[in-house]
Amino acid sequence: MKEKLTITSIDIYKVDIEFKEPFRIAIIEILSAESVFIRINTNEGLYGLGEANPTAGITGETQSINLAGAIDLANLLLGKDPLNIEERMREINKFLIHNSTIKSAFDMALYDLLGKAAGLPLYALLGGGKRSFWTDNTIGLANPDYMAKKARSYKDQGFKAIKVKLGTTWDLDVERIKEVRKAIGNELPIRIDANQGWDYRTAVNVLKDLEPMGIEYCEQPIVYWDYDNLRRIREKSTIGIMADESLFDHHDAFKLASMGCVDHFNIKLAKSGGINTALRINSIAESAGIRCMVGCMTETRLGMSAAAHLVSARLNIQYADLDGWLFLKSDPIIGGAQYDVGEITVPDTPGHGADIDPDFLKLCELTTVK
Ligand code: MG
Repeated sequence: MKEKLTITSIDIYKVDIEFKEPFRIAIIEILSAESVFIRINTNEGLYGLGEANPTAGITGETQSINLAGAIDLANLLLGKDPLNIEERMREINKFLIHNSTIKSAFDMALYDLLGKAAGLPLYALLGGGKRSFWTDNTIGLANPDYMAKKARSYKDQGFKAIKVKLGTTWDLDVERIKEVRKAIGNELPIRIDANQGWDYRTAVNVLKDLEPMGIEYCEQPIVYWDYDNLRRIREKSTIGIMADESLFDHHDAFKLASMGCVDHFNIKLAKSGGINTALRINSIAESAGIRCMVGCMTETRLGMSAAAHLVSARLNIQYADLDGWLFLKSDPIIGGAQYDVGEITVPDTPGHGADIDPDFLKLCELTTVK
C-alpha cells in the first residue's frame, strides 16, 4: 500500500512583477504586483502551487505581512495530510483570523495537490465541466478622454465587455461613461466599479444618470461596511448592484443575501481565503438567486488559473473579471488557463495546471519551512 500523503516542506517565494503602467482605482494606486508563491511539497514528490497577491487597502495584507504569515501557516501544516482540505482550512482559519489572501495561496496549493493526487483537473475535481468564458478588461481611473481611448483599444483588441473604474465625483464619473460609450458604440456592455468611492447620495445620482448608458452592473458603490445603504441604493437603481469589498466570506454572503443588499456577488479567492470558502459563498448566492462573478487582484496566471477553474465548474458564476495579469510586464507561468484575447480556457492537466518558470523562481527570494 502507498504511504499516506504527508506535507514534508513548504517553499515561500517573494515575487515582484512590475506593471506596464500604474493602475489607479478610487482607494489606491498600484505600480507592481507583490505576490507570494507557495509550494507545498509532499513525501510522494507531488506538490501544489498557490499565489497570494494582496491589496492592503482591501484585505489588510501587504507582501511582507503575507511572507511572515506564510511561515506560520507552513509550520501549522507540516507533517499533515494535504488531501483533507476541510480540516486544513479550518485549522488555518482558527489559527489566523482575516488575512484572506495568504490563506488563499495555501488553499489553492492544497486543491492543486488534491487534483494531482486524483489525476483530475480542478474543474472536474469540483464536480463541474469545462467551458470557455470571457473576462472583461478593466480601465483604471484617469481623465475621461484617456479612459475613452483605452476603451476603444480594448474593443479593437476584441474584448466583449469593458469594466470602468469610477468612484470620484458625480459630474466626472458620468462624463467618463459618456466618453467611453461614445468611443465604443452601443454593442459592448460596460461594467462599472466605484471601489467604495461614492457616498449614498452620489451613488444614487450617478446611477440614475447612467441608467440609459448600457451598464451591466455596478460594483461596490459605497464603503464596504454600510450594508443598509447598499440595500437602499439597490432599491433606487435599475442598474444591478454587485458586492465586492463588502463580501469576503460565506458569513458576509449570508448577511448580504438575507438583507437583500445586492443583485450580484464578486467572489475573489484573495478575499474568500480560497476555493473552499468561495464554494460556500456561491452556494449561498445560488440559494438566494444571486448570480456571481469571479474577480481578481493582480495575480499572475497562477492565481488566475485557480480562479478560472472555479468559474468553469460552477454555472451560477456567470461573469468573470480575471484580467489582472494582463497589466503585468511579464508572465512567468507555464501551462494554466489560456487566454485568447479575453476568452479563457482551463487546461485538462491535473490540479489547476499552472506551473512556474524555474528560471523566474531562481530570481525570487526563497524561504523553506521544513
Ligand atoms: Mg471591484
